[in-house]
Amino acid sequence: MDAIVSLCKRRGFLFQSSEIYGGFQGFWDYGPLGVELKRNVREAWWRDMVTSHDEYTAPDGAVSSFDMVGIETSIIMNPQVWKCSGHYDLFHDMMVDCRETKKRFRFDQIRGRWATNGEAEADENKRVFITTDAAPEEAVDDTERRAAEFYEVKKKYGKKFFAEDSTIETVDMSWLGPDAAAAGKSLDGVLALGASKVGTLTEPREFNLMFKTIVGALGTEEDAAFLRPETAQGIFVNFKNVCDSSRVKIPFGVAQIGKSFRNEITPRNFTFRSREFEQMEIEFFCHPDTSQDWYKYWRDRRMAWYKAMGLSDERLILREHDPDELSHYSTGTADVEYAFPFLDDGEYGELEGIAHRGDFDLRSHMEGKLDEKSNPLELQLDADGNPKWKGSGKDLQYFDDQTRERFTPHVIEPSAGADRATLAFLCEAYTEDEAPDDKGVMQKRVSLKLHPRLAPIKAAIFPLIKKLGMPETALGIYREMKAAGLNVIYSQQGAIGRRYRQQDEIGTPWCITIDGDTATDGAVTVRDRDTLEQTRVPVSEVTNEILSRLRG
Ligand code: ATP
Repeated sequence: MDAIVSLCKRRGFLFQSSEIYGGFQGFWDYGPLGVELKRNVREAWWRDMVTSHDEYTAPDGAVSSFDMVGIETSIIMNPQVWKCSGHYDLFHDMMVDCRETKKRFRFDQIRGRWATNGEAEADENKRVFITTDAAPEEAVDDTERRAAEFYEVKKKYGKKFFAEDSTIETVDMSWLGPDAAAAGKSLDGVLALGASKVGTLTEPREFNLMFKTIVGALGTEEDAAFLRPETAQGIFVNFKNVCDSSRVKIPFGVAQIGKSFRNEITPRNFTFRSREFEQMEIEFFCHPDTSQDWYKYWRDRRMAWYKAMGLSDERLILREHDPDELSHYSTGTADVEYAFPFLDDGEYGELEGIAHRGDFDLRSHMEGKLDEKSNPLELQLDADGNPKWKGSGKDLQYFDDQTRERFTPHVIEPSAGADRATLAFLCEAYTEDEAPDDKGVMQKRVSLKLHPRLAPIKAAIFPLIKKLGMPETALGIYREMKAAGLNVIYSQQGAIGRRYRQQDEIGTPWCITIDGDTATDGAVTVRDRDTLEQTRVPVSEVTNEILSRLRG
């Protein structure tokens, strides 16, 4: 991972935000190559999901088509949207503060952490020293015994809990007694990272992840609004507008790509968990009777997309949530997960969630906030029995003019992160191998084996030397490719082997060299980044050759 992070900075894929001021945690800037890569990720998603595909094969084999349209909604919306969506009440993590160091931790990351007796080490893997009241000089055994008591560690899991490499990631809450994870209790004995004594942590409290802002000049609490934590709600609240204006018929999908913001307590793992990030979301509206088929369709299609874009089978999994992980309104959720190199072996990080959301969202925006725990869904009421958050009161049902049926559509939501996908493609592409240098001697090289559609630069055009008309021919090809819409570069500096390596490292799939033979045979050499194969292609055909290789 360190090698990837350093390449990203060195070659201009990603920079820390506001780096000259020391950065800003959880925020990132894409450099000249990064912006092309991410734009290609977005464009591949948009083209494959929205504009170029409309075919559906039903379980009985019948083939039909469906509509996909796009939308771009505002980042700041009427605050009532977040009350009815549930984000205002429920979109929070539990956090604790260290009174001494003023550091803030996510409760689920502090809870259950175990490190060895001794000095508290500022070692990420050891993290915290847990004991009820033990002084650091106490014997390990005694600390363990008391920690076991304190956490009600079940006997059979004792070994695992106290294993030397045991950390929050390896500790499973089911190893502990039922009360052990209760708020407060498990914190009294925690020595937080960097603190000089135990017991400096506050009680856990809710921390809403939405960024708050003030709209207008008055600046009162009534003017508070939120930066959206997901793009999805912009689609739901426009459901009626889209139906009325674009003549789409159910089943259809509405797609949106845009920035979302979450005040993550512990942003980390490069861009994987940021505070500002980009989502690529689809809300697919369908009839309740066929929603299960559509759920399966989208789950499988999204998984196939990541594979088609180059992620390997071995590092990608589709994880169906267990029935007890699902909310009442959902009959299925699956996550596409990737084995990022910053995770331990066997661990995966979420790239995308595909959820069957029933009619929960449209109904909440019609009637008011629904109770996600009640089955069937009921309106959430305040202490006086009135709706807690009122809906829009607008009719967000769908009328099928063929069957004359009026119903609230069910929704399948494939929700992906553009930054996480970009990071996964970068991680998968990073390769250290060998290639021959100018003298034919094998040398180590770094290459990014990105799918050509995603590669920031599609081809690099080189004159072998700076004379004999080679630069002129090369520039002619360069201009023709630019005019064809290809993002290509021209370079005449340095030995040819070095120029190849520079392109390998940024993922350019093809290098085109104009050499001494070009003047006589009218052809150039096209070198493939991955196979290193070199083929002669006539100058007049080279642009079409690259375009056709790109189409695959
Ligand atoms: P996590 O469990 O990792 O916090 P989540 O389940 O809260 O993610 P969703 O609300 O389902 O995520 O959001 C959909 C997608 O948006 C995620 O699969 C991910 O790709 C992306 N995403 C969510 N939070 C972040 C973040 N903080 N930084 C970057 N991408 C994110």
